[in-house]
Amino acid sequence: MPESRMPPRKLHIKSYGCQMNVYDAQRMADTLAPEGYVETASAEGADLVILNTCHIREKASEKVYSELGRLRAAKEQAARDGRGMNIVVAGCVAQAEGEEIIRRAPVVDVVVGPQSYHHLPQLLARAKTCGRALETEFPVADKFGFLPQPSRQAIRARGISAFVTVQEGCDKFCTFCVVPYTRGAEASRPVAKVIDDVRRLADNGVREITLIGQNVNAYHGEGSDGRPWPFGKLLYRLAGIPGIVRLRYSTSHPRDVEDTLIDAHRDLDALMPFVHLPVQSGSDRILAAMNRRHTADDYRRVIDRFRDARPDIAFSSDFIVGFPGEAEEDFAATLALVGQIGYAAAYSFKYSPRPGTPAADMQETVSTADMDQRLVQLQNLIDSQQSAFNRTALGRTIDVLFDRPGRKPGQIVGRTPYLQPAHVEASDAIIGQVLPVTVASLERYSLFGTLASQPASGEPSNHAATGGAQFQTTAGV
Ligand code: SAM
Ligand code: SF4
Repeated sequence: MPESRMPPRKLHIKSYGCQMNVYDAQRMADTLAPEGYVETASAEGADLVILNTCHIREKASEKVYSELGRLRAAKEQAARDGRGMNIVVAGCVAQAEGEEIIRRAPVVDVVVGPQSYHHLPQLLARAKTCGRALETEFPVADKFGFLPQPSRQAIRARGISAFVTVQEGCDKFCTFCVVPYTRGAEASRPVAKVIDDVRRLADNGVREITLIGQNVNAYHGEGSDGRPWPFGKLLYRLAGIPGIVRLRYSTSHPRDVEDTLIDAHRDLDALMPFVHLPVQSGSDRILAAMNRRHTADDYRRVIDRFRDARPDIAFSSDFIVGFPGEAEEDFAATLALVGQIGYAAAYSFKYSPRPGTPAADMQETVSTADMDQRLVQLQNLIDSQQSAFNRTALGRTIDVLFDRPGRKPGQIVGRTPYLQPAHVEASDAIIGQVLPVTVASLERYSLFGTLASQPASGEPSNHAATGGAQFQTTAGV
């Protein structure tokens, strides 16, 4: 049967971990769309299931094997029903454990690393003839040149907020982290390519862009003048693209905060005053053992530079508790730092030794019970700061970008500049607009209020009422 007359094939992608994976999953769907694959919400009845995996902590990577156990049953059922089901493992576990996956899980047809997923159609074809296919090289040519652009329909279905990868990989080699090994060396996309992507998204109704990269502010892509542009300069350029009302970025590193980024926060209304700036620990001894190459004071000074430029700025962060050698006084220094900075949100994790990283060879000194206790203590402190931050919204009027219908009929939900979900009663015509909301009440992390001014009349909603990208970070990775 000619390809054009073949019924659509169902594709289910399950993504774990970071925003990069959310973005990669969308680009995998774009790559497979010309092959007739249409996304479906469930693995049941799918022709192709992709697990887009995360290797950052042991728990994250172990999930893959239990999911593969479940998929084996689904694949066997599909075979009994006379259908085929292909299973792909993509992402950072694929990169780190390629051969091991093939050995442990014969149900898998294709294993593909994060730098090679533009080859998915060829790998699936190879699996069909050879039984399995594995590709975990870091190719010389970057994948972005090969990825097809998302269709208008796909952009609209994904909602008014979109991720755009500007930078990949990392050369920092923190001693606990697998990223430099699974995502490879740091590389930035040229400015012109990023502009093209953002323009295309804006032309199709996207209003908010989150620029992503493992170390996004290390960006140094080639600009129109043939020179490397710093990240701040890229932000100035993107803020001028018609239709883009909000810009965000994640994840940034304290060592790469240079002056154009600070200036951008001072000058650009579109640049949201909410920055995820992981510090990991408040102890200089532990920061040195982590190879973070900055001290707690360096971090405080970076925060001050942001605050001087943009007084209403708020921060989130990542913390690791129980790193090898972390004594009570080191942990106390972390609590002290959190107390001094005052976060709007933060993620904290128990240290998880990752094979192949330098820290995995260090003697673990913190007992599980102490790690658990430190995690609870830190999370309680962060939670109380987050609640206090949210309470400051009460009675104030705050700009909200509306992105989706709420759970209750007549309710529309958006995000404040600080990514707090904000709910109002309104028509779905306001989706895609930024409108002031007077906040009347608070329920845990969500704000509830009323529109303080009426929406622009006659402005059509750009998206189906089902749209709305999820742009809250998942566990900050
Ligand atoms: N590039 C970012 C930075 O420099 O902070 C972070 C990227 S990493 C993908 C996300 C977070 O996962 C880290 O900030 C760290 O808190 C956590 N993480 C990474 N490796 C970890 C490990 N081995 N154990 C526990 N948490 C880890
Ligand atoms: Fe790079 Fe961040 Fe991992 Fe450090 S924690 S190696 S900066 S990705």
